[in-house]
Amino acid sequence: MRDFDIAIIGAGPAGATFARLASKTGLSVFLADGQSEISRKPCGGLLAPDAQNVLAGMKLTLPKEILVDPQIFSVKVYDAKTRLTRLYPRRYLNMDRLRFDRWLISLIPDTVEVRTGRVTRIERQNKGFGLTLGNGDSLFCRALVGADGGNSGVRKFLLSESGKRDKIKRYIAIQQWFSDDGRSEPFYSCIFDGETSPSCSWSAYKDGLIMFGGCFPQKNCRESFERQKSKLIADGILPIDGEKALKTEACLICSPKKQSDFLIGGDGAFLIGEAAGFVSPSSYEGISYALDSGRLLAEAFEHTGGRLDLHRIADTYEKLVSGIRRKLILKEIKRRVIFSQHTRNLILRTGIASLKI
Ligand SMILES: Cc1cc2nc3c(=O)[nH]c(=O)nc-3n(C[C@H](O)[C@H](O)[C@H](O)COP(=O)(O)OP(=O)(O)OC[C@H]3O[C@@H](n4cnc5c(N)ncnc54)[C@H](O)[C@@H]3O)c2cc1C
Repeated sequence: MRDFDIAIIGAGPAGATFARLASKTGLSVFLADGQSEISRKPCGGLLAPDAQNVLAGMKLTLPKEILVDPQIFSVKVYDAKTRLTRLYPRRYLNMDRLRFDRWLISLIPDTVEVRTGRVTRIERQNKGFGLTLGNGDSLFCRALVGADGGNSGVRKFLLSESGKRDKIKRYIAIQQWFSDDGRSEPFYSCIFDGETSPSCSWSAYKDGLIMFGGCFPQKNCRESFERQKSKLIADGILPIDGEKALKTEACLICSPKKQSDFLIGGDGAFLIGEAAGFVSPSSYEGISYALDSGRLLAEAFEHTGGRLDLHRIADTYEKLVSGIRRKLILKEIKRRVIFSQHTRNLILRTGIASLKI
């Protein structure tokens, strides 16, 4: 059986960043990722200023091949109940999410063994973990890193070991893609429709396509999505033929509300990115937290100078991510403000902070 100091499950922004930086510790690192062209991560593909800042802090610049057309400078907020609309300035980069993930993976040095395929089984063994891959291969690792996203198997494994239930709220995110038929608008949209979802939806143009997506309670999620889509088409907010979706994708997305929703691991296993619950409950922006928590866990490993002192790594990581946790709790407070119909009416009616056109 192959033997590694660290095994990482998931090569999204969190896992790929951690793998790249952990390779510098001199420890042996293994990374398995289940994403492919057909099972790609559903994502709006908008790189927020916070994520741009984390990349800048790691001295990384973005290759232009990752960007898509058009680049956008504003968000159009639409409230389906009042039909109020406002434009707000936003400096996001519009990109192809799969290309972004692949670029981050391409930065991982050859010393890391990167394998395409899913980890299907995790078990705790003496002084480490045994992992089984989809093709039947198995390996042993001393430290396990769960970077496996919003439906994390490592998170489930750790919770089942401690006999606790996962109380973090999860929505189903559904996205559909349509041809833009030559139309393209200089903004992406953020849509509120309390009748079909207590959460929000979005649309954006990308290289000749329009993407429409949103977060919905798990019960009757597809029906709620279709109802909202029809309404937005009728209101003239979505310029699409709702019957002609080129692609439909869906996954679970976390919406953390309190400190206990964040789980960062311990006892040899660590969680980073959305697996830890690090995603904004107000905008579902998660790339910055994934990059940053991956970076911070690598820093915690570096602190021990290449020794696998798992207790010290856990203590250091806990201290380093406290800023992310605080920031996300503030985002939850923001969510309560903007997701309330009453305050949203006030904000949209007064036009505070909106673009004056
Ligand atoms: C519909 C939608 C739209 C979003 N839009 C945006 C946006 O525009 N901007 C933004 O900043 N954030 C957005 N987010 C949030 C953002 O996508 C996530 O927070 C971010 O991708 C989390 O990164 P991660 O590395 O933690 O996990 P992920 O990106 O989810 O990566 C997890 C990886 O683990 C792999 N994996 C899972 N299980 C296994 C296994 N058993 N074995 C091997 N591999 C496994 C998966 O294949 C995947 O590649 C969106 C999320 C959704 C759902």
